[in-house]
Amino acid sequence: MKVNIGIIGFGWMAYYHYKYIIPKNGDFNVVAIYDIDKAKKSVAEQFNIKSYDNLDMFLNDDNFSTVLVATPNDSHKELVIKSFEKGKNVICEKPVALNANDVKEMIDASIKYNKIFTVHHNRRRDRDFLSVKEVLDNNTLGKPFLIESRVDGANGIPSDWRREKVHGGGMLYDWGPHLIDQILLLVDSKVVEIYAQLITLKYEVDDNIRIQLKFENGVCAQVEILTNCLIPLPRWHVLCANGTLNIDNFKNDGKMICGTLKEIDWTLESADNYAGSTRTMRARPENTIKEMEIPKKETDWFEFYFNYQRVLEDKEELLVKPQEILRLTQIIDLISESSKLGKSISCCI
Ligand code: NAD
Repeated sequence: MKVNIGIIGFGWMAYYHYKYIIPKNGDFNVVAIYDIDKAKKSVAEQFNIKSYDNLDMFLNDDNFSTVLVATPNDSHKELVIKSFEKGKNVICEKPVALNANDVKEMIDASIKYNKIFTVHHNRRRDRDFLSVKEVLDNNTLGKPFLIESRVDGANGIPSDWRREKVHGGGMLYDWGPHLIDQILLLVDSKVVEIYAQLITLKYEVDDNIRIQLKFENGVCAQVEILTNCLIPLPRWHVLCANGTLNIDNFKNDGKMICGTLKEIDWTLESADNYAGSTRTMRARPENTIKEMEIPKKETDWFEFYFNYQRVLEDKEELLVKPQEILRLTQIIDLISESSKLGKSISCCI
């Protein structure tokens, strides 16, 4: 099936979709754009894409039935609901909205107008995430007890609306949806406790954040999103009963060590080590551990659109389901609340 797409907001991310994410096999075509910035008209015209500066006229164009919304975060809800009203299916950029009530309204509108609604969670197809998922799904290292996921920027927040509260700026809304969504896909259990520190170092929004989630099955997760970090820690540090997995970066470099816990020789004479007077923090004896290869997954972001096409053809379920995003946003709401209150919040989501 051909998938003709109209884009609302032809900025950085929409251009990235156009150039790198929308498949180039002839089935997918960007046929029109609408942007409030008139300068985007000439950009679109370079690629022979029809450009509108009136939203109703854009949405009345019958040459496409899918709208991609890629505008600043605070404008998604209104544009998504209007697109449903005009009979379009919608792919919306993350964060789909700024609170769970708004997400609920968007889902209700998609049901009312019987339209497909999904959110572009491209990082569900990142290699590093899929490697961690495979290790946990296959129980390669036993049950996890602490999963750390972080991204470390060093240059602050890009100089646009992301620095402004009114547009839904800040790192919780920017990277939070990606990293928390990944954690929710890794741990099949309810979130029962949330604690967050949203730090504002340079701007009016959160620019360096740490979030802790505790799940009903006992797994704990920590997410860090930093924009002022000059010495990065690993992208993933996953501690399991029988081993540890480090993935250093988006390229998926890293190390995986397994070894079931055995009693070691705790006596004074037992080991040569550099840790001084501690016995607890000595390294594991070499003969009790084994390095394993990290499973490498070949993946790319085109898969999001191929899935969407198969959903239109009634052949598959959505890769990113609205109800999953509602749950994610409920958790994001509690993260904000925890940081505001300065204490942990019990929940069951
Ligand atoms: P941007 O500022 O580069 O582009 C936004 C565009 O929307 C601009 O051209 C602007 O003129 C236009 N616009 C603003 N308000 C509008 C409105 N009401 N109607 C029509 N056009 C409007 O921003 P960006 O970096 O492209 O981010 C856009 C969205 O994409 C955000 O929600 C962001 O979180 C998301 N994003 C996602 C990823 C990802 O990896 N999934 C990466 C970057 C950005």
